[in-house]
Amino acid sequence: MSQIGSESQPLRVAIVGAGPAGFYVAEHLLKQKDLVIEIDMFDRLPTPFGLVRNGVAPDHQKIKSVTKVFDRIAARPGYRFFGNVELGTDISVDDLRSHFHQIVYSTGAQTDRYLNIPGIDLKSSHAATQFVAWYNGHPDYRDFEFDLSQETAAVIGIGNVAVDVARILCRSPEELFETDIADHALRALSESRIKDVYMVGRRGPAQGAFTPPELKELGEMQDADVVVLPSEAELDDLSLAVMADADRGTERKVELIQQFSRREQTGKTRRLHLRFLVSPVELTGDEDNCVNSMKLVRNELYATDAGTLRPKSVDEFEELPVGLVFRSIGYRGVPLEGVPYNENWGVIYNEAGRVMKLDTRKPLLGEYTAGWIKRGPSGVIGTNKPDAMETAENMIKDLASGRVLSPVQPNATSLETFINDRQPDYFSYADWQRLDDLEKELGAAIGRPRIKFTRVDEMIAAKNRQV
Ligand code: NAP
Repeated sequence: MSQIGSESQPLRVAIVGAGPAGFYVAEHLLKQKDLVIEIDMFDRLPTPFGLVRNGVAPDHQKIKSVTKVFDRIAARPGYRFFGNVELGTDISVDDLRSHFHQIVYSTGAQTDRYLNIPGIDLKSSHAATQFVAWYNGHPDYRDFEFDLSQETAAVIGIGNVAVDVARILCRSPEELFETDIADHALRALSESRIKDVYMVGRRGPAQGAFTPPELKELGEMQDADVVVLPSEAELDDLSLAVMADADRGTERKVELIQQFSRREQTGKTRRLHLRFLVSPVELTGDEDNCVNSMKLVRNELYATDAGTLRPKSVDEFEELPVGLVFRSIGYRGVPLEGVPYNENWGVIYNEAGRVMKLDTRKPLLGEYTAGWIKRGPSGVIGTNKPDAMETAENMIKDLASGRVLSPVQPNATSLETFINDRQPDYFSYADWQRLDDLEKELGAAIGRPRIKFTRVDEMIAAKNRQV
């Protein structure tokens, strides 16, 4: 019998999820000179790139240029894309096992961490992840509505997602027009009456989860002043003590926040207030069940045994009159049917990318994971590269020791026939590239980077028109 990974018997790999992690796994595998590998990448959306399309802020076009790298990976011999094919609906894990020697799950973190405080489920309280997906034109969120007739909004959390949400709420219509924000969001945000946006951090300036460039950008918006209370910009004694050993990034964040606190307001239309050492304890609603107030408690920091500075509340409260709330305290993975899942961590149960059986804690033959569903929702796009490499290296090692699945139909043609049968409206990479060109053409006609398709049926209709 010929060797798996040879010309006559290529190693067949399924990658579920076409975000950065999935592409980086594909890249590392397809670079192997001594192996012949065929990769079929699946995504539940017709469009690839995961959070690069549906998460990265539309006013961060430069970050989105990483898709050129993904295009190059997709152009390598052996790579195929099957978009609009959903695991659990169009194809099952068992189907994958009958067609592939190895399976990689790189489905990301598709929901948010919940904040369990009274009133969090009121009508105008949302997950930041929903707002992000809505303004980026994710088809599942196309018809969501956010009450932008309110004058005051709050974002809970001070990570980079909170920063994105606050910035998009504060951008002028002219600034948004230059981005690839979805048309429906551009229209709604152009009519927004929001004047004040509060970003609420439970710890201090030195513990902000935002990164310095993102923080700096908040001070450079066309029509929004950034406001920091001088009393909250000052570091407490514990933070001051750790600053002696702080990295340059932390120093820079503290510098920026202290500069913001010394700024005069310049009378811009909007104000972005960065608040520190306060935690929301309750949202109260009006007669229509919409938020009209957020109760905050003041915090102090204390050092844990491990030396981390954590918040604890003191008996001091204030009310913020807010009509719209976004909780932005982290993403969370969702389980895939038939794949072992660590409920506590919100990730696939794995060791260095090898999916593990829950009962025996031994590797599950032929199944792997990469990206946020492997390690949790942390890091930037580039963080997925070493993460994916670790997974891919273990896949290669397992192949070398013969630990791969034994699919009954390990060939590209039978998989294509199978998908055609289950989901005739699937998107190949060429189909996606035509859609991509069309979006760019529509945008160019009015001076925007692109006009996104935001409904799957419209994407399918556009594909069929062009065939
Ligand atoms: P994150 O960086 O983990 O930030 C979560 C924030 O929520 C932190 O400020 C955290 O405060 C706060 N938080 C957690 N639990 C809380 C609670 N119970 N009450 C109040 N606040 C709470 O998560 P993220 O913003 O979702 O970002 C996810 C990843 O994507 C990050 O690695 C981020 O850098 C990355 N990202 C990067 C960019 C970019 O590069 N431009 C853009 C977007 C996202 P504590 O620190 O006190 O826990």
